Amino acid sequence: MRRVSIFGATGSVGQNTVDLISRAPQDYDVIALTGADNIAQLSKDAKALGAKVAVTAKPGKLAELQAALAGSDVLAAAGPNAITEAATRPCDWVMSAIVGVAGLAPGLAALQQGATLALANKESLVCAGALMLQTAKENDATILPVDSEHSAIFQALTGEDINAVERIILTASGGAFRDWPLAALGSATLAEASSHPNWDMGQRITIDSASMFNKAMEVIEVREFFRVQPDQIEVIIHPESLIHALVGFNDGALMAHLGPPDMRHAIGYALNWPKRRGLPVARLDLAQIGQLNFKNPDIARYPALKLARAVMDRGGQMGAAFNAAKERALDAFINRRIRFTDMAEVVEDVLTRFETDPDHIDAAMTLDNVTKTDHLARMWADQVMAKRAG
Ligand code: NDP
Ligand code: MG
Repeated sequence: MRRVSIFGATGSVGQNTVDLISRAPQDYDVIALTGADNIAQLSKDAKALGAKVAVTAKPGKLAELQAALAGSDVLAAAGPNAITEAATRPCDWVMSAIVGVAGLAPGLAALQQGATLALANKESLVCAGALMLQTAKENDATILPVDSEHSAIFQALTGEDINAVERIILTASGGAFRDWPLAALGSATLAEASSHPNWDMGQRITIDSASMFNKAMEVIEVREFFRVQPDQIEVIIHPESLIHALVGFNDGALMAHLGPPDMRHAIGYALNWPKRRGLPVARLDLAQIGQLNFKNPDIARYPALKLARAVMDRGGQMGAAFNAAKERALDAFINRRIRFTDMAEVVEDVLTRFETDPDHIDAAMTLDNVTKTDHLARMWADQVMAKRAG
């Protein structure tokens, strides 16, 4: 039996992972499930899967979790440290599906014990790609990408020489506002930004898809994980979201990965790797689909893509600064304190401030320094927003 844990089990990726594991419970020994606010789901799944421990990120929710688990053998724990501690429990396969930089410490802890880390939490790579890869290497651990584009690239690269890769093309749906007049973006509401044309995902990544901050993060994720040069990474709008990514080789071949927009494919691929096994996802009917469309993204509509280039050019701690400023600006948009189009401006202002502070950007890539950068970028983002409001 394989020992598995799911971090962020109550979220969109987490629930798809629970779904796959639940279909073959005899194959898995479930160690830890974690969540934050959704105690009902966390306790229900922990009991159904026979997890050893269920952890909520919220210390104030411990009593509720304990009550929900009463009478079962599942241990209850709470707080960010308890989540990271759960990642130190011996385990073979760990799903990293917490949203935000909160996923970084538990991901590193899982790598330190040599587990295979199925990585949906792109923030880990954006903030600390070099640290993640180094930790995996030192501990003989494996990172398998779960972000659908990166899983597609990983699959297209299987058996290939990375030196023969000319370019990697990420597809983007274009998000909720791809056909809106540019001038209307400033008044886009939270509800409008929270609906995705093709994928059913958590609220934060859905809004990030509308702004293409998600694609910006994914470009950096490609750079960090596959170690290609920034100018080898392209983004193309593909409204159908059926091609997840393409890899171009030096002989002119372009390998595309197609599949339905269902995260259970990428999750299942990582769960079964290096084998393939049957998965309960829809099969594409190409004749019915008829045609696939592509167009170049417009930087005026998606300024986040330009910011991703600046982050890659600067390197170091800039990814952590970018992610933290973005998370903070997104919080402010969700709380209706700034407009949709303000998010990219706030992030740009924070990055500009970091550019004048090379000590921070060039600090060694340790969890401590990433955490410091993260805190500073959040503080500066708040200052930028306060100044704009005042
Ligand atoms: P959701 O918002 O649906 O779920 C997030 C999970 O993290 C929930 O289990 C939530 O708990 C938990 N959580 C929230 N805050 C904290 C915290 N501070 N500490 C610990 N746990 C926390 O997110 P998604 O599933 O959409 O995304 C998860 C990750 O996967 C993100 O990094 C995202 O970018 C990435 N991803 C997601 C895709 C998707 O299809 N959804 C596709 C590709 C990548 P609770 O719900 O109990 O509050
Ligand atoms: Mg993706």
